[in-house]
Amino acid sequence: MSALYDPVILFHARSEKNRGEVEEPRLRGRGFNPACGDEIFLSLRIEGERISHGAWTGEGCAVCLASASLAVEGVRGLDRQEALDKIRAFYRFVGDETNSPGPDLDPAAWSWGEAAALKPAFRLPGRKDCVLLAWRTLEGLIAGPAAETGPAQAGD
Ligand SMILES: [Zn+2]
Repeated sequence: MSALYDPVILFHARSEKNRGEVEEPRLRGRGFNPACGDEIFLSLRIEGERISHGAWTGEGCAVCLASASLAVEGVRGLDRQEALDKIRAFYRFVGDETNSPGPDLDPAAWSWGEAAALKPAFRLPGRKDCVLLAWRTLEGLIAGPAAETGPAQAGD
């Protein structure tokens, strides 16, 4: 069975589970992958330093959409630094050598749960950016300083 048709990938790509936009105040970011046409919008609600909620909307391939769902789910409940550590450990977890920072971030320190389905997807031809898009977008969002308070621009 191809990793493209992994039940976890298909479920998260189609499910409403993590889809939508969190209420303000929030951080919001867009990710675009021209190679595949994937476009996602992520939003996070941060209370104190903790990410209390996260959601996504967008259009794209199943791998990208599932990754967005799993990424926002994966950082929920973490504080900002923990979330950044986990995202950076994720790069190493899937085998991404380009974005992996420092040797300290041990993927084994984190529980990956359903996000483990993204590891075989990362190895599919042409799917690396589909897997990474949401995590890179999330990393930029969490590392950035400002909370956005404007109206949603996620289209439909
Ligand atoms: Zn894609």
